[in-house]
Amino acid sequence: MTFDANTPSAYGAPFDRSTPSDTRSPVFQKTLKSSIGCTGVGLHSGVRVAMKLHPAPPGTGIVFKRVDLVGGGAVIEARWSRVVDSRMCTVIADQNGIGVATVEHLMSAFCGAEVDNAIVEINGPEVPAMDGSALPFVFLIECAGVTEQDQPRRALKILRRKSYFNGNKMVALGPHDEGLLIDFHIDFSAPAIGQQSCSFTVGRENFKTELSQARTFGLLSDVTALREAGLARGGTLDNAIVVDGDRILNDDGLRHDNEFARHKALDAVGDLYLTGYPIIGHFTGRCSSHADTASLMRQVYADDTCWEMVDLWHTPANKPMWADHKSDMVAYA
Ligand SMILES: [Zn+2]
Repeated sequence: MTFDANTPSAYGAPFDRSTPSDTRSPVFQKTLKSSIGCTGVGLHSGVRVAMKLHPAPPGTGIVFKRVDLVGGGAVIEARWSRVVDSRMCTVIADQNGIGVATVEHLMSAFCGAEVDNAIVEINGPEVPAMDGSALPFVFLIECAGVTEQDQPRRALKILRRKSYFNGNKMVALGPHDEGLLIDFHIDFSAPAIGQQSCSFTVGRENFKTELSQARTFGLLSDVTALREAGLARGGTLDNAIVVDGDRILNDDGLRHDNEFARHKALDAVGDLYLTGYPIIGHFTGRCSSHADTASLMRQVYADDTCWEMVDLWHTPANKPMWADHKSDMVAYA
Protein backbone atom coordinates (compact mmCIF):
# COMPACT_ATOMS: atom_id res chain seq x y z
CA MET A 1 0.00 0.00 0.00
CA THR A 2 1.28 3.41 -0.84
CA PHE A 3 0.17 6.75 0.43
CA ASP A 4 0.76 9.17 -2.34
CA ALA A 5 -0.74 11.70 -4.68
CA ASN A 6 -2.88 9.00 -6.25
CA THR A 7 -4.43 8.03 -2.95
CA PRO A 8 -8.14 8.81 -2.94
CA SER A 9 -8.88 12.10 -1.28
CA ALA A 10 -9.34 11.94 2.46
CA TYR A 11 -11.81 14.77 2.23
CA GLY A 12 -15.48 14.14 1.68
CA ALA A 13 -18.36 16.49 1.06
CA PRO A 14 -18.34 19.87 2.82
CA PHE A 15 -19.02 19.41 6.51
CA ASP A 16 -22.51 20.27 7.70
CA ARG A 17 -21.93 22.67 10.60
CA SER A 18 -25.56 22.35 11.64
CA THR A 19 -25.24 18.65 12.54
CA PRO A 20 -26.75 18.55 16.04
CA SER A 21 -25.85 14.99 17.08
CA ASP A 22 -22.34 15.69 18.40
CA THR A 23 -21.44 18.42 20.89
CA ARG A 24 -17.78 18.29 19.91
CA SER A 25 -16.76 20.70 17.19
CA PRO A 26 -14.54 19.56 14.35
CA VAL A 27 -11.25 21.20 13.51
CA PHE A 28 -11.59 22.61 10.02
CA GLN A 29 -9.00 22.86 7.27
CA LYS A 30 -7.35 26.22 6.78
CA THR A 31 -5.93 28.22 3.92
CA LEU A 32 -4.51 31.71 3.43
CA LYS A 33 -6.86 34.69 3.55
CA SER A 34 -5.05 36.46 0.72
CA SER A 35 -2.08 36.10 -1.61
CA ILE A 36 1.38 37.28 -0.62
CA GLY A 37 4.83 37.16 -2.19
CA CYS A 38 8.53 37.47 -1.55
CA THR A 39 11.80 37.32 -3.46
CA GLY A 40 15.12 35.81 -2.52
CA VAL A 41 18.03 33.58 -3.48
CA GLY A 42 18.05 29.77 -3.39
CA LEU A 43 20.55 28.39 -0.86
CA HIS A 44 21.93 25.71 -3.18
CA SER A 45 21.20 27.05 -6.67
CA GLY A 46 22.11 30.68 -5.95
CA VAL A 47 19.24 31.58 -8.31
CA ARG A 48 17.11 34.64 -7.44
CA VAL A 49 13.42 33.76 -7.51
CA ALA A 50 10.05 35.34 -6.83
CA MET A 51 7.55 33.26 -4.87
CA LYS A 52 3.85 33.86 -4.25
CA LEU A 53 1.62 32.04 -1.76
CA HIS A 54 -2.07 31.85 -2.72
CA PRO A 55 -5.24 30.52 -1.03
CA ALA A 56 -6.51 27.14 -2.29
CA PRO A 57 -9.77 25.17 -1.96
CA PRO A 58 -10.23 22.50 0.74
CA GLY A 59 -8.57 19.19 -0.10
CA THR A 60 -5.92 20.82 -2.32
CA GLY A 61 -3.00 20.35 0.05
CA ILE A 62 0.17 22.34 -0.61
CA VAL A 63 0.89 22.52 -4.35
CA PHE A 64 3.92 24.14 -6.02
CA LYS A 65 3.67 25.67 -9.51
CA ARG A 66 6.75 26.53 -11.57
CA VAL A 67 5.52 29.60 -13.44
CA ASP A 68 8.79 30.33 -15.26
CA LEU A 69 8.46 27.53 -17.80
CA VAL A 70 7.03 27.74 -21.30
CA GLY A 71 3.82 25.78 -21.88
CA GLY A 72 2.05 26.30 -18.59
CA GLY A 73 4.86 25.30 -16.26
CA ALA A 74 4.81 22.38 -13.88
CA VAL A 75 2.47 21.49 -11.05
CA ILE A 76 4.04 19.55 -8.19
CA GLU A 77 2.10 18.32 -5.15
CA ALA A 78 4.10 18.66 -1.94
CA ARG A 79 3.83 14.94 -1.21
CA TRP A 80 6.27 12.14 -0.46
CA SER A 81 5.49 10.54 -3.79
CA ARG A 82 7.06 13.61 -5.45
CA VAL A 83 10.36 13.57 -3.52
CA VAL A 84 13.19 12.92 -5.97
CA ASP A 85 16.25 13.93 -3.93
CA SER A 86 16.86 14.33 -0.22
CA ARG A 87 20.65 14.34 0.06
CA MET A 88 21.23 17.97 1.10
CA CYS A 89 17.69 19.32 1.03
CA THR A 90 14.27 18.01 0.02
CA VAL A 91 13.54 18.26 -3.71
CA ILE A 92 10.14 17.49 -5.23
CA ALA A 93 9.45 17.13 -8.96
CA ASP A 94 6.67 16.28 -11.40
CA GLN A 95 6.64 13.26 -13.71
CA ASN A 96 8.91 15.11 -16.16
CA GLY A 97 11.53 15.81 -13.52
CA ILE A 98 10.73 19.51 -13.26
CA GLY A 99 10.92 20.41 -9.64
CA VAL A 100 11.46 22.71 -6.72
CA ALA A 101 14.29 22.30 -4.22
CA THR A 102 14.58 23.10 -0.52
CA VAL A 103 10.86 22.97 0.19
CA GLU A 104 11.32 21.85 3.82
CA HIS A 105 11.54 25.24 5.59
CA LEU A 106 8.41 26.55 3.84
CA MET A 107 6.60 23.24 4.48
CA SER A 108 7.62 23.51 8.12
CA ALA A 109 6.08 27.01 8.30
CA PHE A 110 2.83 25.74 6.71
CA CYS A 111 2.74 22.91 9.26
CA GLY A 112 3.48 25.21 12.19
CA ALA A 113 0.84 27.72 11.06
CA GLU A 114 -1.64 24.85 10.48
CA VAL A 115 -2.20 25.78 6.83
CA ASP A 116 -3.62 22.78 4.95
CA ASN A 117 -4.20 24.26 1.51
CA ALA A 118 -2.10 26.69 -0.53
CA ILE A 119 -0.71 27.20 -4.02
CA VAL A 120 2.96 28.21 -4.11
CA GLU A 121 3.89 29.90 -7.38
CA ILE A 122 7.63 30.13 -7.96
CA ASN A 123 9.58 31.32 -11.01
CA GLY A 124 12.73 29.29 -10.39
CA PRO A 125 14.09 25.93 -9.22
CA GLU A 126 14.44 26.53 -5.48
CA VAL A 127 12.50 28.09 -2.61
CA PRO A 128 14.32 31.26 -1.51
CA ALA A 129 16.55 30.75 1.52
CA MET A 130 15.49 34.04 3.15
CA ASP A 131 17.46 34.07 6.44
CA GLY A 132 17.92 30.27 6.50
CA SER A 133 15.06 29.69 8.93
CA ALA A 134 11.27 29.34 8.64
CA LEU A 135 10.53 32.62 10.41
CA PRO A 136 10.23 34.78 7.24
CA PHE A 137 7.67 32.26 5.89
CA VAL A 138 5.72 32.36 9.17
CA PHE A 139 5.74 36.15 8.84
CA LEU A 140 4.44 35.93 5.25
CA ILE A 141 1.65 33.55 6.31
CA GLU A 142 0.70 35.83 9.21
CA CYS A 143 0.63 38.86 6.88
CA ALA A 144 -1.61 37.00 4.42
CA GLY A 145 -3.80 35.76 7.28
CA VAL A 146 -5.21 32.27 7.79
CA THR A 147 -8.88 31.39 7.39
CA GLU A 148 -10.97 28.36 8.26
CA GLN A 149 -12.63 26.38 5.48
CA ASP A 150 -15.73 24.20 5.31
CA GLN A 151 -14.21 20.72 5.45
CA PRO A 152 -12.85 18.94 8.51
CA ARG A 153 -9.14 18.60 9.09
CA ARG A 154 -7.77 15.09 9.31
CA ALA A 155 -4.52 13.74 10.68
CA LEU A 156 -2.25 10.75 10.22
CA LYS A 157 -2.14 8.96 13.57
CA ILE A 158 0.83 6.69 14.17
CA LEU A 159 -0.18 3.38 15.75
CA ARG A 160 3.10 1.43 15.92
CA ARG A 161 6.73 2.49 16.20
CA LYS A 162 9.01 2.12 13.19
CA SER A 163 12.77 2.75 13.27
CA TYR A 164 15.35 3.19 10.55
CA PHE A 165 19.08 2.84 11.23
CA ASN A 166 21.84 4.12 8.94
CA GLY A 167 25.26 3.68 10.52
CA ASN A 168 25.30 5.91 13.59
CA LYS A 169 22.13 7.68 12.44
CA MET A 170 18.67 6.71 13.58
CA VAL A 171 15.14 7.94 12.98
CA ALA A 172 11.94 6.60 14.47
CA LEU A 173 8.24 7.40 14.41
CA GLY A 174 5.95 6.02 17.10
CA PRO A 175 2.62 6.65 18.80
CA HIS A 176 1.93 9.77 20.86
CA ASP A 177 -1.18 10.85 22.74
CA GLU A 178 -1.77 14.06 20.84
CA GLY A 179 0.07 16.34 18.45
CA LEU A 180 3.52 15.82 17.00
CA LEU A 181 6.38 15.42 19.48
CA ILE A 182 9.82 15.93 17.93
CA ASP A 183 12.98 14.78 19.71
CA PHE A 184 16.27 15.52 17.99
CA HIS A 185 19.84 14.85 19.02
CA ILE A 186 22.98 15.74 17.05
CA ASP A 187 26.67 15.07 17.63
CA PHE A 188 29.18 17.01 15.51
CA SER A 189 32.95 16.88 15.90
CA ALA A 190 33.09 20.67 15.41
CA PRO A 191 33.22 21.97 19.01
CA ALA A 192 31.00 24.96 18.15
CA ILE A 193 28.16 22.46 17.57
CA GLY A 194 29.11 19.38 19.61
CA GLN A 195 26.25 17.41 21.13
CA GLN A 196 22.86 19.14 21.24
CA SER A 197 19.29 18.00 21.85
CA CYS A 198 15.83 19.49 21.66
CA SER A 199 12.30 18.26 22.29
CA PHE A 200 9.10 20.03 21.23
CA THR A 201 5.45 19.26 20.78
CA VAL A 202 4.61 21.21 17.66
CA GLY A 203 1.88 23.81 18.13
CA ARG A 204 1.17 27.10 16.40
CA GLU A 205 2.65 29.30 19.11
CA ASN A 206 5.64 27.25 20.18
CA PHE A 207 6.57 26.51 16.57
CA LYS A 208 6.89 30.23 15.96
CA THR A 209 8.76 31.03 19.16
CA GLU A 210 10.88 27.90 19.63
CA LEU A 211 11.57 26.37 16.21
CA SER A 212 10.86 28.75 13.34
CA GLN A 213 13.85 31.04 14.02
CA ALA A 214 16.49 28.30 13.92
CA ARG A 215 18.70 28.72 10.86
CA THR A 216 20.30 26.18 8.57
CA PHE A 217 24.02 25.66 9.08
CA GLY A 218 27.17 24.38 7.45
CA LEU A 219 30.81 23.70 8.16
CA LEU A 220 33.30 26.03 6.49
CA SER A 221 35.39 22.96 5.62
CA ASP A 222 32.46 21.58 3.58
CA VAL A 223 31.72 24.73 1.61
CA THR A 224 34.33 24.15 -1.12
CA ALA A 225 33.21 20.55 -1.71
CA LEU A 226 29.54 21.56 -1.72
CA ARG A 227 30.16 24.31 -4.26
CA GLU A 228 32.12 21.95 -6.49
CA ALA A 229 29.07 19.67 -6.35
CA GLY A 230 26.88 22.59 -7.44
CA LEU A 231 25.43 23.12 -3.97
CA ALA A 232 25.45 25.96 -1.44
CA ARG A 233 26.00 28.47 -4.27
CA GLY A 234 23.62 30.94 -2.63
CA GLY A 235 24.85 30.30 0.90
CA THR A 236 26.11 33.36 2.79
CA LEU A 237 26.38 34.43 6.40
CA ASP A 238 23.00 36.14 5.83
CA ASN A 239 21.17 32.86 5.25
CA ALA A 240 23.15 30.21 7.14
CA ILE A 241 25.21 29.73 10.26
CA VAL A 242 28.76 28.89 9.22
CA VAL A 243 30.95 26.98 11.66
CA ASP A 244 34.74 26.69 11.60
CA GLY A 245 35.89 24.34 14.38
CA ASP A 246 35.03 26.05 17.63
CA ARG A 247 34.03 29.34 15.97
CA ILE A 248 30.69 30.67 14.72
CA LEU A 249 31.57 32.97 11.81
CA ASN A 250 28.31 34.97 11.92
CA ASP A 251 28.84 38.29 13.70
CA ASP A 252 25.50 38.08 15.47
CA GLY A 253 26.16 34.60 16.93
CA LEU A 254 23.35 32.14 17.63
CA ARG A 255 19.63 32.73 18.20
CA HIS A 256 19.43 29.80 20.67
CA ASP A 257 22.18 27.85 22.47
CA ASN A 258 20.96 24.71 20.67
CA GLU A 259 20.00 26.41 17.40
CA PHE A 260 21.57 23.59 15.36
CA ALA A 261 19.41 20.87 16.98
CA ARG A 262 16.35 23.11 16.69
CA HIS A 263 16.98 23.58 12.98
CA LYS A 264 17.13 19.80 12.50
CA ALA A 265 13.77 19.56 14.29
CA LEU A 266 12.41 22.31 12.00
CA ASP A 267 13.58 20.31 8.96
CA ALA A 268 11.86 17.18 10.31
CA VAL A 269 8.57 19.06 10.80
CA GLY A 270 8.72 20.22 7.16
CA ASP A 271 9.66 16.82 5.77
CA LEU A 272 6.92 15.08 7.77
CA TYR A 273 4.33 17.56 6.45
CA LEU A 274 4.91 16.04 3.02
CA THR A 275 2.44 13.39 4.19
CA GLY A 276 -0.15 16.04 3.35
CA TYR A 277 -1.55 15.85 6.88
CA PRO A 278 -0.57 16.78 10.41
CA ILE A 279 0.93 13.76 12.19
CA ILE A 280 -0.10 12.55 15.63
CA GLY A 281 3.05 10.78 16.68
CA HIS A 282 6.49 10.92 18.26
CA PHE A 283 9.41 11.50 15.88
CA THR A 284 12.95 10.82 17.08
CA GLY A 285 16.04 11.85 15.10
CA ARG A 286 19.60 10.95 16.09
CA CYS A 287 22.21 12.60 13.83
CA SER A 288 19.81 11.93 10.96
CA SER A 289 19.29 13.68 7.63
CA HIS A 290 16.47 14.39 5.18
CA ALA A 291 17.29 11.11 3.42
CA ASP A 292 16.95 9.11 6.65
CA THR A 293 13.54 10.67 7.33
CA ALA A 294 12.52 9.80 3.76
CA SER A 295 13.63 6.17 4.25
CA LEU A 296 11.70 5.95 7.51
CA MET A 297 8.52 7.33 5.96
CA ARG A 298 8.72 4.85 3.10
CA GLN A 299 8.77 2.07 5.73
CA VAL A 300 5.84 3.60 7.58
CA TYR A 301 3.72 3.86 4.42
CA ALA A 302 4.61 0.35 3.37
CA ASP A 303 2.99 -1.02 6.55
CA ASP A 304 -0.63 0.07 6.87
CA THR A 305 -0.81 -1.33 10.41
CA CYS A 306 1.43 1.58 11.44
CA TRP A 307 -1.02 4.41 10.89
CA GLU A 308 -4.61 5.43 10.39
CA MET A 309 -6.46 8.58 9.39
CA VAL A 310 -8.39 10.32 12.15
CA ASP A 311 -10.67 13.35 12.32
CA LEU A 312 -9.57 16.21 14.53
CA TRP A 313 -11.99 17.63 17.07
CA HIS A 314 -12.10 20.44 19.58
CA THR A 315 -13.34 19.31 22.97
CA PRO A 316 -15.73 21.58 24.90
CA ALA A 317 -12.62 22.90 26.72
CA ASN A 318 -11.24 23.77 23.29
CA LYS A 319 -8.51 21.19 23.59
CA PRO A 320 -7.89 19.50 20.24
CA MET A 321 -8.32 15.74 20.25
CA TRP A 322 -8.47 12.98 17.69
CA ALA A 323 -11.20 10.49 16.90
CA ASP A 324 -10.77 6.99 15.54
CA HIS A 325 -11.84 6.70 11.96
CA LYS A 326 -11.11 3.09 11.12
CA SER A 327 -14.10 2.81 8.79
CA ASP A 328 -12.41 5.29 6.47
CA MET A 329 -9.49 2.92 6.01
CA VAL A 330 -11.60 1.22 3.37
CA ALA A 331 -11.07 4.26 1.22
CA TYR A 332 -7.33 3.69 1.33
CA ALA A 333 -7.26 -0.06 0.69
ZN1 LIG B 1 16.97 23.02 6.93
